[in-house]
Amino acid sequence: MKISFIGLGHMGAPMARNLVKAGHALVVFDIVKANVDALTAAGASAAKSPRECAAQGELVITMLPSSPHVKAVYLGGDGVLAGVAHGITVIDCSTIDPHTAREVAAQSLERGNPMADAPVSGGTGGAEAGTLTFMVGGTQQVFEHIAPILKAMGKNIVHCGACGTGQVAKICNNLLLGITMIGVAEAMNLGAALGIDTKVLAGIINTSSGRCWSSDTYNPYPGVMENVPAARGYTGGFGADLMLKDLGLAADAARQAKQSVVLGAAAQQLYQMFSAMGFGGKDFSAIINMYRTAQ
Ligand code: NAD
Repeated sequence: MKISFIGLGHMGAPMARNLVKAGHALVVFDIVKANVDALTAAGASAAKSPRECAAQGELVITMLPSSPHVKAVYLGGDGVLAGVAHGITVIDCSTIDPHTAREVAAQSLERGNPMADAPVSGGTGGAEAGTLTFMVGGTQQVFEHIAPILKAMGKNIVHCGACGTGQVAKICNNLLLGITMIGVAEAMNLGAALGIDTKVLAGIINTSSGRCWSSDTYNPYPGVMENVPAARGYTGGFGADLMLKDLGLAADAARQAKQSVVLGAAAQQLYQMFSAMGFGGKDFSAIINMYRTAQ
C-alpha cells in the first residue's frame, strides 16, 4: 500500500521504518529536513507539504507532538484535508485531547475521509521493536480496514469505540501512571528514610497489595532494578515533560466533563514544579528526586 506518513520524530521515524520493512511504499513529510532525509535513506520518498504528502497516499498516518500541531497539519491551507483524495482513511497516532480528535475527525468525515485516532503506548523502544499498543477510536469498518496495517508497527491493536475514545483510553492510562509513579516514589523514599533495605521493600511491595507497573517494572528508586531509567541517571524512557503534557490533557478533558481528578491535579502540579526546575527532559520516574532532595 502507498502510505503518507507525517511527523518523523522519536516515535514517527521508527514507526515509518517498520512500515517500509513490511513492504509498504512510503511518502513522508516533516518540518525538520534531517528527519525526512533519514527516512528517504531507508527507502521512502519525500513530499514538500502535508497537502502534497497526503495527496499521494492510499492511507494517511500522522504522529505529531500535540493538538495545535494536529489541527495545523490537518486543517491548514496546505494541510492533509486540502490534499487527500476522497474516501481515503486518515489516522492520527499523536496523543492529543479527545475534543480536538473528535473535531478534526468530524471535519475529515465531512470531506469524505473516515478518520481514526490511534494513540500508542510502548515508548520509543516499542516503536523500534514494532510492539506498540494502539488504542483506536473510530467506526468498526475503519478499525477493520486499518488494523492489519497497524500490525506492522504494533502488537496489540485495540478498538476502544467511536472517534476520540482512543485518546480517552490513552489519557486515562497516563493519568493513573503519573499518579502511581509518584505513589511508588513516596513509599520507596519513606522506606529508605525509615531504614529498610530498598530492594527488600520493593520485593515486599511487588508481592503485596501495593504492586503496580511503576513498582514492579519501572521502579524509580536507584539500585532496585536494572535496565530502567533509574539505573542510568533517568536518561531515555518517557520524558517528564511528556507526562506533564498528558496530565494536562487529562485535566482539560476532566474540566470539560465536569469530573474531578484530585490526585491527577496534584500529580500535574508536582510534574510542573519538576519541569520548572529544569528537569523536564529527564525520564518521568526521576520525579522521585523531588522527595530525595527534601530528605
Ligand atoms: P517528537 O517531538 O519527537 O516528534 C514530532 C515530530 O513532528 C517532529 O519530527 C516534528 O518535527 C514533527 N512536526 C511538528 N510539527 C509539524 C508539522 N507542522 N508538520 C510536519 N511535522 C511536524 O515527538 P514523539 O516523541 O515522536 O511523540 C509524538 C507523539 O506521540 C506525541 O503526541 C507524544 O505524546 C506521543 N507519544 C510519545 C511517546 C514517547 O515515548 N516519545 C510514547 C507514546 C506516545
